[in-house]
Amino acid sequence: MQAYQLGQATLAAMERDQVWPTPLNYEIWMHAVANPDGDLAIEIQRLLKRDKMITEETSDRLAVEFLPNRRFDDEVREAGDQLNRELVSVTTAIKKAQQTSKDYNSTLDIADRSLAVDVEATTVRNVVKDLSTATEVVRIENRGLEVMLERSTAEVRRLQLHLEQVRREASTDALTTLANRKAFDEEIIQLCEKADTNGRPLSFAVIDIDFFKKFNDTWGHQTGDQVIRFVASVIGRVAEAPRFAARYGGEEFCIIFPNESANLVERVVDEIRDEISTRMLKRRSTNEDLGMITVSVGLAQRTQNEPVHTLIDRADAALYVSKRNGRNRITNVGTSALEE
Ligand code: C2E
Repeated sequence: MQAYQLGQATLAAMERDQVWPTPLNYEIWMHAVANPDGDLAIEIQRLLKRDKMITEETSDRLAVEFLPNRRFDDEVREAGDQLNRELVSVTTAIKKAQQTSKDYNSTLDIADRSLAVDVEATTVRNVVKDLSTATEVVRIENRGLEVMLERSTAEVRRLQLHLEQVRREASTDALTTLANRKAFDEEIIQLCEKADTNGRPLSFAVIDIDFFKKFNDTWGHQTGDQVIRFVASVIGRVAEAPRFAARYGGEEFCIIFPNESANLVERVVDEIRDEISTRMLKRRSTNEDLGMITVSVGLAQRTQNEPVHTLIDRADAALYVSKRNGRNRITNVGTSALEE
């Protein structure tokens, strides 16, 4: 969609959904209009159906949940400002300590000159008194500087941890806590480069929940979300590091298996498929049996130097073979391309 058309469609959607024309709502609705089948658009429709209106509080939540980069940018800016403030206060303290040290040196100079020309007891006493006062000032100043540096170090450490947490959240899917699509896009490039360097195999699986749309229509989005969480938890348990699991799209997941051939991985993926299809899930609100949940899987092994998109396309094509052949199964194409 062209930017101008997108802008117009966004405003129309905001009017239709009767939300305030705030910059935040504009950003949220623009993302939803640009991707009408995406999670954000689905969530907005769900909320409108349930609550009939979207409050400012809900908009804030939608932004945090679905526009992670925006939040990440804000947090990074905030942390940067805070670091600047720390830096300014430390610099000021150091300048003050330098001035105190300079004053102390002058006091020592004066004392030196006084003692060189006159060594009467009262003069010596006064000089010693001045020196002791000046030393006390320096001592207090140094202690203040120490406290300030300790405080600043702790603050910088806190900011580091906070940024680390925000970074983690920005690459995590909020519903499932698996890595999100953005993190996956970055990770697969790195892992493929590594595989090229060390000449080791790398396998890739795409996992899709069967008949999920029908399931959602029957049981509602909330139960649908629970099923997504369940499938993600099974995948997450099996795909521990160095394997890398992500929520790839709505009901689609993927796992990267560095250093593992597709033939070895097939058994592992089959365990996932089996665990999902044999678990009896209940609808929590009514205790009704949700029936069998199954997944279809496409599995491919990367050939040396194969472009990332070709590997993903091959696994996707394998997934559709699993779907065509009756679902609840794995299609392993290894290093070969599928004949159309
Ligand atoms: P959750 O509800 O946050 O549960 C997290 C984990 O706590 C579950 O991981 C399970 O180990 C444990 N747990 C929670 N409730 C029960 C329970 O009533 N009995 C037992 N024995 N353990 C329980 P698990 O099984 O991997 O599930 C992950 C997520 O999948 C759950 O998160 C939930 O969102 C969804 N889920 C799993 N089973 C069901 C189900 O039967 N019905 C619904 N609606 N959702 C389910």
